Amino acid sequence: MSNLLQGHRRIVVKIGSSLLVDRERGMKRTWLESLGEDIARLTGGGRQILVVSSGAIAMGRKLLKMPRGPLRLEENQAAAAVGQIALSRTYSEILGRHGLETGQVLLTIGDTEERRRYLNARATLATLLDMGAVPVINENDTVATSEIRYGDNDRLAARVATMVDADLLILLSDVDGLYTAPPAEDPAAEHIPLVDSITPEIEAMAGAAGSELSRGGMKTKIDAGKIATGSGTAMIITAGQRLYPLSAIERGERATMFLASGTPRSARKRWIAGHLQMAGALVVDEGAVAALTSGKSLLAAGVASVHGVFSRGDPVLITRADGSEVARGIAAYDAEDARKIAGLRSSAVSAALGYEARAAMVHRDDLVLSHAVEAVAAEVAVMIAEEREAAAGGAAG
Ligand code: GLU
Repeated sequence: MSNLLQGHRRIVVKIGSSLLVDRERGMKRTWLESLGEDIARLTGGGRQILVVSSGAIAMGRKLLKMPRGPLRLEENQAAAAVGQIALSRTYSEILGRHGLETGQVLLTIGDTEERRRYLNARATLATLLDMGAVPVINENDTVATSEIRYGDNDRLAARVATMVDADLLILLSDVDGLYTAPPAEDPAAEHIPLVDSITPEIEAMAGAAGSELSRGGMKTKIDAGKIATGSGTAMIITAGQRLYPLSAIERGERATMFLASGTPRSARKRWIAGHLQMAGALVVDEGAVAALTSGKSLLAAGVASVHGVFSRGDPVLITRADGSEVARGIAAYDAEDARKIAGLRSSAVSAALGYEARAAMVHRDDLVLSHAVEAVAAEVAVMIAEEREAAAGGAAG
């Protein structure tokens, strides 16, 4: 099994209450210390880590010596108020040993759903990361009321991940991934290591919505997966109980990896998707279509014909022979050179051009698959409308 963390720079790690807090003994310090070491090692290696941590309510209940069983809303909120301090203090102590500062960020649903507050929260998180601090995030349980709260940190973590354009979201919990059926109900259930996209079949494997009693069950994890992968963030579900839980992922311990869908997120890709005027078109074969769909670059070998007049850096359409659109991208060659190398294997490209050249006709970073174009266009339209509204409001006020 390969190292699933490889190639992911900005990572959100969600930690479930049961990993952190023991009903009798309180905070699981040894475990948390091992997580702290993992985080320090990863940030030392150039990665940025954000933690979404549950455990405030569980910890508060313990500190306030509250009885077992369900609590009223205000009791839960009181527990969260007390527990959150303990939680933050522990993170700050443990990460502090490695010279890392901890930034406590408590969010309510409005902070991720309302655009102006969203932008504000996003800027704060980005600044913390720039300064090398580790944001430790939780829902602001003391003020969030039932109708207007996430209630589960799986989905909160997914929203945070998309907010900061994270490459990867890791859900550390008490299950080591997705199974073909809930393993508690079906002993023949098989573990699924990789999910390409969250189809209705995948959703069905998480169990019927009605059978999900606990918050943070597999269903909310799949919901989180839809949020994350739909915005270009990959997601891992794995069991977190073992010490050094992030090293365990790198070692290849059992986990389910959900690949990010082709939806672009970088400004560059937005720009490509939003571009209306295409300078030319590249007609590609089915092999190239398959390669593009799986996230690869468009190689000269896959190009059947070149149309239009364009320069290197111009936006071009990539279509099938019947003209149906596959993707949009930025040409790495001008039309004249593109014609010379169309259909050639990578080894022949430089010879045909008479200079050292790359084989990619359109690099994968410069590509947006067309099924994603509509989604991005809609997003951009909303963004523009909101910015206009904000500008109009500002001018009036
Ligand atoms: N925000 C809650 C807490 O810190 C946890 C929610 C969850 O477990 O998903 O206690």
